[in-house]
Amino acid sequence: MKALLIIDMLNDFIREDGSLYVGRKGEELVPFIKEKIEEFRKENNPIIYVCDNHETDDSEFQMFPCHCVANTEGALIIEELPVEKRDKIIKKRRYSSFYGTDLDLYLREKGVDEIYLVGVCTNICILYTAADGRNISYKVNIYRDGVTSFDEAAHEFALKEAEKTLGCRII
Ligand SMILES: [Zn+2]
Repeated sequence: MKALLIIDMLNDFIREDGSLYVGRKGEELVPFIKEKIEEFRKENNPIIYVCDNHETDDSEFQMFPCHCVANTEGALIIEELPVEKRDKIIKKRRYSSFYGTDLDLYLREKGVDEIYLVGVCTNICILYTAADGRNISYKVNIYRDGVTSFDEAAHEFALKEAEKTLGCRII
């Protein structure tokens, strides 16, 4: 079975007034991601929103401006994306969607062996989620039109690294 992982499509990254806005390219992903959500829903494949959710003094803020603090507006999924009750929401505090979360357990319980990634940022949370997924033998697919970054060169590097080193499929 396959599952769609929608990573960090949150107000602080995607909205222009967000504290770690990735730029217009983030908003431009929305129609593509909506299409994929519909496609996965039609086949009854799990849809998982993975969401940055930090402590107020999270150590990540030594590297990045404060963002997606738990219980703030910035940490909410953008309203353009249709979240349904049956969708799974996973909160994470690190780049990888697997680190310190129950993603692996959830996927295994659902019989998922193949994940499809969309969201931001290609070179950060997408890449490290892909790496952790590959390390524990998931098939990992990344939609080229479904991911982006504030850093175009890093975006391209990450896709190449995911394909050539991690063995992901870039589709
Ligand atoms: Zn973060």
